[in-house]
Amino acid sequence: MGKTLYDKVFEQHSVAELPSGQHQLFMGLHLLHEVTSPQAFSSLDERGLTVAYPDRTFATADHIIPTHTLVRPLADSLAEEMLVSLETNVAKHAIQFFSPRRKEQGIVHVLGPELGLSQPGMMICCGDSHTSTHGAFGSLAFGIGTSQVRDVLATQTLAMNRLKVRRIEVNGKLRPGVYAKDVALYLIQKLGVQGGVGYAYEYAGEVIEHFSMDERMTLCNMSIEGGARAGYVNPDATTYAYLKGRRFAPSGPNWERAVEYWNSVRSDADAVYDDVVEFDGAEIEPMVTWGITPGQSMGVGGKVPGLESFPVNERETAEEAYRYMSFEPGQPISGTQVNVAFIGSCTNGRLSDFEEVARLIQKSGRKVAPGVRALIVPGSQDVRRALVERGYDKLFTDAGFEFREPGCSMCLAMNPDKLEGRQICASSSNRNFKGRQGSPSGRTLLMSPAMVAAAAIAGSVTDARVLFDIS
Ligand code: SF4
Repeated sequence: MGKTLYDKVFEQHSVAELPSGQHQLFMGLHLLHEVTSPQAFSSLDERGLTVAYPDRTFATADHIIPTHTLVRPLADSLAEEMLVSLETNVAKHAIQFFSPRRKEQGIVHVLGPELGLSQPGMMICCGDSHTSTHGAFGSLAFGIGTSQVRDVLATQTLAMNRLKVRRIEVNGKLRPGVYAKDVALYLIQKLGVQGGVGYAYEYAGEVIEHFSMDERMTLCNMSIEGGARAGYVNPDATTYAYLKGRRFAPSGPNWERAVEYWNSVRSDADAVYDDVVEFDGAEIEPMVTWGITPGQSMGVGGKVPGLESFPVNERETAEEAYRYMSFEPGQPISGTQVNVAFIGSCTNGRLSDFEEVARLIQKSGRKVAPGVRALIVPGSQDVRRALVERGYDKLFTDAGFEFREPGCSMCLAMNPDKLEGRQICASSSNRNFKGRQGSPSGRTLLMSPAMVAAAAIAGSVTDARVLFDIS
């Protein structure tokens, strides 16, 4: 009987089966950032422990980094304290740090892949929910809590339960103006925000096979929003072409050996899954969230759904969403005025996201609507440099966008980029939870970068296919 990639990678990394039934798994890569690591390092110090595998541990700073200036000390003393703490800990434990002082930093889930650290067949962990992003490479990648960060620092292993595997096939072809973000939001809407609990998602089918690595990362990134502990795509020629020549990717004779191993971890043709679901890519519209979970979404041409359309156990959340968002059932989402437009985050802060937005803006010659604050926040310094090299910084600023330093920015607003009051933000990020973008009453509408750009220009939610004449 064939095995899935999940089964193979899990079994290869199992060091021991624990009395609890959990497996102790060896982590090939541990990524750190400033928010979830200080306590973990303190706890290590208290026990007199050292980092077991500093050469498999890499750090950067992203959540608290201001995107208007990197001048130190940071204006926010708490943020400065976190950054100093990370700098001290990485120096003490000889961990490689991609530092804002040297303009090397990026969002941890943008940086790891672009450095070639995230590779097929690996177990990867990081103290951040969206670690699922790295599954795009055919790795098993998990977000972990602070105490688990400590455990991995000390032992390079993690105790985990075995998951079930759901294969999600998206077949056919996406229509023009429909992006990976739309696929992610569509799948979460169809399968539910709790639908993936207890599962790893294996994404497959023609649409996913044709996706670039950036698109696969966008999709895997949002697995966690559908309740799945991890999401992955089997590695293929697209994966290898992306990795070849990257700083930490294998080279020389090691490359061939690595590819051989990477091919071996692909799910077998006769692999058995706990569940298989299939969708038609042609049915997916540009998606917009209307509520307070990423599952509360619709096609841009749709109307806020009525209470009767929800199963009984979801009605309370739907009512809460109507109240919080000030939306009425039956109201079209298109035309909703926006105050802020944010393009960035570990979901959609990669070079190809901004290249597409730049292409659309250039083609339309349009500018950001008066009264809308529009932010372009690259996911890493490398992405920022590439955009500047192409002259897109000027293109964006000429069109009325602010072009910022890399960081998490308004995705989570643990930095000065925050919504104010009841502002509505068209956002390319991944969570529309209440208060997520820094104002306790701020409202978030998740969508693709192209849709955010269209909202910025129109001043309201609008179909990017129409505004940018995408056909
Ligand atoms: S961009 Fe958002 S989701 Fe991604 S790591 Fe930063 S805060 Fe977390």
